Amino acid sequence: MAKIVIVGAGIGGIPMAYELKSLVGSEHEIILVSKGDKFNFVPSNPWVMVNWRTRQDVEFTITDYIEKAGIRFICTGVKKLHPKDNKLELFDDSEITYDYLVIATGPKLAFDEIEGMGPHLNSHSVCTVDHAEKASLAWNNLLQNPSPAIIGAAQGASCFGPAYETALIMDTDLRNYGIREQVPLTYITSEPYIGHLGLGGVGESQQLLEEEFKKRKINWITNAKITKITTEHVFVDEYSEEGAIKQTHTIASKFNMILPAFKGVDAFAGIDGLVNSRGFIIVDKHQANPTYPNIYALGVCIAIPPVEKTIVPTGAPKTGYMIESMVTAISHNIKARLDGEDQHTQATLNTVCFADFGDSGIAFVAIPQFKPRQYDWFYGGKLVHYAKVAFEKYFTYKVKHGVSEPFYEKFVMNALDIMKTKDDNDNK
Ligand SMILES: Cc1cc2nc3c(=O)[nH]c(=O)nc-3n(C[C@H](O)[C@H](O)[C@H](O)COP(=O)(O)OP(=O)(O)OC[C@H]3O[C@@H](n4cnc5c(N)ncnc54)[C@H](O)[C@@H]3O)c2cc1C
Repeated sequence: MAKIVIVGAGIGGIPMAYELKSLVGSEHEIILVSKGDKFNFVPSNPWVMVNWRTRQDVEFTITDYIEKAGIRFICTGVKKLHPKDNKLELFDDSEITYDYLVIATGPKLAFDEIEGMGPHLNSHSVCTVDHAEKASLAWNNLLQNPSPAIIGAAQGASCFGPAYETALIMDTDLRNYGIREQVPLTYITSEPYIGHLGLGGVGESQQLLEEEFKKRKINWITNAKITKITTEHVFVDEYSEEGAIKQTHTIASKFNMILPAFKGVDAFAGIDGLVNSRGFIIVDKHQANPTYPNIYALGVCIAIPPVEKTIVPTGAPKTGYMIESMVTAISHNIKARLDGEDQHTQATLNTVCFADFGDSGIAFVAIPQFKPRQYDWFYGGKLVHYAKVAFEKYFTYKVKHGVSEPFYEKFVMNALDIMKTKDDNDNK
């Protein structure tokens, strides 16, 4: 009997545990190790910031669900990996050995790379539910005391969809309260142009997002490097296409929601051959680490190069569809090895992302993520709102009921087909 340990019970880790369990049954032991006993549906965190969801809506205890599926659950968290000994050291100083390890720990948030940045200092985040809840207190204060606000994605950020989503739900919420005119909004981003999304653009993303921002009177600064954030101001260097500082900006703002760059988590940092210089896990085409082939990784914690070089550094987004396909690849590859066969399954690095604005939304689809693409499509409209809500409901159901089937292939692609047909009809 092999012992397979999965670290991280998030968007990638829980489906990983269920899919593997459905493939290997009770012949092999599966252990899920996370930091805490809760699951947070991260894509809904921006809604927590504007009070459209509560913490209880987007976070719940998972111990019973995981154990009911025949998977052992440990919520102590991993302090350090010792890959040469096939051993994990946990935060309570206990140890756990493994035959196969799957790392799905998501990101470490690199707030420390910009002076004054982070929820403990002068900017907010929606990357965790703790951050989103703290941001909602500041948001309520802004609603009481309207003043200019900033939304953005820092240099090195890769997660641009939620930055756009947050900008647009802020706009919608302020309109709902009738105070939009009193809260000038500025979007600051490392992207070279609006709608780049860390993907070199998707379909007509630049044109459509610029139009949306203009319509909603959201100002923007692109090619932006944030140099400092204080309680009253955000300091920004704006770069030219030639890579020189074109203009420096000092923008007055008391409410800042700025997505940071990501790094790999501390438990694996600095392990030679396992991680790159930013602590992301290096994987081959089978999602296995070349130095330690019994270690696999998926999700935001893996190393993927930027889609293209930009004047101010941007990263490639790692979103649900590709995470799901990494889960499937790892499940089949571990199963193949357990059966004495060669690994043969590869993940498809495709991007599908929904950003909801409450009254409308955008969906972008880049298949594959790297150009040239077979499918390069961007949609804006109310249907995205319903698709995003369905995504949240289905994923929650999946976690609670141990559903092992992939979600995107079966469900989201159908939703996208409906949207695309509507889009085509609208354009006739
Ligand atoms: C605000 C936001 C909105 C997003 N919206 C979308 C969207 O709409 N659609 C989409 O496709 N993608 C979206 N993404 C991108 C991506 O899908 C999410 O970031 C997703 O949560 C990544 O899944 P993951 O499994 O890699 O990491 P996570 O879901 O973050 O899970 C990581 C898990 O590892 C655990 N962990 C961390 N360190 C340790 C440790 N040392 N020991 C044990 N456990 C540990 C954490 O507690 C957590 O449970 C969004 C991202 C953000 C930040």
